[in-house]
Amino acid sequence: MRIGVVVSPWGTGPDATAKVGGLAAYAETLPDVAAVESGHYGPGEEDLNRFREWVKGNKVDRIVLASCRPRLFKEAYMRAAADEGVNKYLVEAIDISQLCAADAKDKAAAEKAKILLRAAVNRVGSLEEVKAQRIPVEQAALVIGGGLVGMEAATRLADQGYRVHLVEQGPFLGGKTPQLGTCFPSMDCGNCIAPLGGELHRRCMYRSPVAVSPNVELHTLSSLKKLVGVIGNFRATIETMPRYIDQDKCIGCGVCTEFCQGEAPNEFDLGLSKRKAVYIPSNMSLPRVPYLDLEHCGNPEELVEACPVGAIDLGMRPREETLKVGTVIVATGFEMFDPKGMYGYGEHPDVLTQLHLARLLDMSGPTGGSLTRLSDGERPGRVLMVQCVGSRDPRTHEYCSRICCGIAVKHALDIKKRWPDTEVTILHKDIRLNGKDYERMYYEAGELGVRLVRGEAGSLTSEGKGFAFAYKDEDGGDAKLEADMVVLSNGMEAGPSNQALAKAIGLDVNPDGFINEVN
Ligand SMILES: Cc1cc2nc3c(=O)[nH]c(=O)nc-3n(C[C@H](O)[C@H](O)[C@H](O)COP(=O)(O)OP(=O)(O)OC[C@H]3O[C@@H](n4cnc5c(N)ncnc54)[C@H](O)[C@@H]3O)c2cc1C
Ligand code: SF4
Ligand code: SF4
Repeated sequence: MRIGVVVSPWGTGPDATAKVGGLAAYAETLPDVAAVESGHYGPGEEDLNRFREWVKGNKVDRIVLASCRPRLFKEAYMRAAADEGVNKYLVEAIDISQLCAADAKDKAAAEKAKILLRAAVNRVGSLEEVKAQRIPVEQAALVIGGGLVGMEAATRLADQGYRVHLVEQGPFLGGKTPQLGTCFPSMDCGNCIAPLGGELHRRCMYRSPVAVSPNVELHTLSSLKKLVGVIGNFRATIETMPRYIDQDKCIGCGVCTEFCQGEAPNEFDLGLSKRKAVYIPSNMSLPRVPYLDLEHCGNPEELVEACPVGAIDLGMRPREETLKVGTVIVATGFEMFDPKGMYGYGEHPDVLTQLHLARLLDMSGPTGGSLTRLSDGERPGRVLMVQCVGSRDPRTHEYCSRICCGIAVKHALDIKKRWPDTEVTILHKDIRLNGKDYERMYYEAGELGVRLVRGEAGSLTSEGKGFAFAYKDEDGGDAKLEADMVVLSNGMEAGPSNQALAKAIGLDVNPDGFINEVN
């Protein structure tokens, strides 16, 4: 056995090399270590070639890489070792970033690095070599989350010939995008999907191939219960709630909706309109098969009678099935932060969120696209948008949600273009617009007279038919803005099912509840 140790400091200067000198010397004293290399090794091809030369020259057959970014580099160095005939699973990596960042006299950091190195050398030395073998891989994917991102992922995979199971917890696909009306930066319809790769044309979500591709199987009202197996060969157990309508039989004639006597708040319009108990939320929704919400249905038996093809089945029950898939894509999106109790939200109908405003501004929304106060049906003369509600706030979430400034500016522009005499003010800590073409929206907002006021939001009080909004200005002084409608730019947060989903799949979540990226 010939173990090789590479000690790679963060940086190439003499200081960096000096910091890891003690560790390299220590490596030489460890059992079975035949060669020690000290020097900066990054992810570039030049460094990988140097590494290959070193492996070949020293005839090492097991390797420990001590570096500051092992998760980023390990795979590349495993492959480079394999190029020189070393079994890539006999390459270990440890993180010595603490040593690299520490003061040269920091004994604790040096001691910790030695312990990590000793453990890695022991481990790599005690591994039994298992030859890599080829095993068949399921040519199918599980995509969890049927929003725009999940639909696109499913489409791309299906286009490449893979079988895709698209699992959506709700009765319809699309996620939030169909509710948005228009989408920046192109200001296209929210259902419009930008062309990717070599495509020439934009595509409407309604015409998404997920609904027609023979490679895609839709599982709406479904969630992942269990995932077992390894990459390439998973068994995924899916639970599906009843739709009460047989998707294979339904011809989408809409007769059941006409007959339906039950009503409920329309979730698609965030309760700003009503829907029938058997419904398709919008003209663009997929699949084009209604969902029967039995809880709100007053005459289910009549619906069964009315359906011309016998598609309504009140006897449907929750069911489980196990799918064989080779890979899993999580595209579960986000939830909107609920600002209930903040700045009069939930108490006054004219305090809304940006998603409510999106529904009001949408031509196919509950007001036919007209900006209307919900309290009296009048058009507000002064609209105030309050940024960072539920974001950048130690009481709620400390992170920036990164998109709500764009949403506010988009809506402000829309209002100013359609009703130029409306006074639109955005109260912000600072406007964060970082994305392609976003800066253009910022300048356009200025040109159209959108007022951008910097300050810390305070409190809202009713004043006549409108509101007074107290805030601290940039100098910390007390100031006030008046408005007829207040729109809260509430941030994004991880969905409630994220934790359980991450656990079922074996993924990490960060302290904010979002799934961690590998790097
Ligand atoms: C008011 C507003 C305006 C916006 N305007 C714009 C804009 O102009 N331009 C722009 O680029 N972006 C805009 N956005 C952002 C845009 O909505 C998101 O980028 C987009 O929705 C992300 O799509 P997604 O598929 O990742 O997530 P989502 O739309 O959140 O969809 C996620 C889907 O996954 C499903 N799901 C969640 N958990 C599970 C689970 N455990 N199992 C199964 N299914 C699950 C959900 O039901 C949902 O259907 C706006 C957002 C808001 C709120
Ligand atoms: S369930 Fe029957 S009545 Fe309703 S849309 Fe489908 S086919 Fe028509
Ligand atoms: S409103 Fe702007 S600054 Fe505040 S959290 Fe959203 S994107 Fe970030």
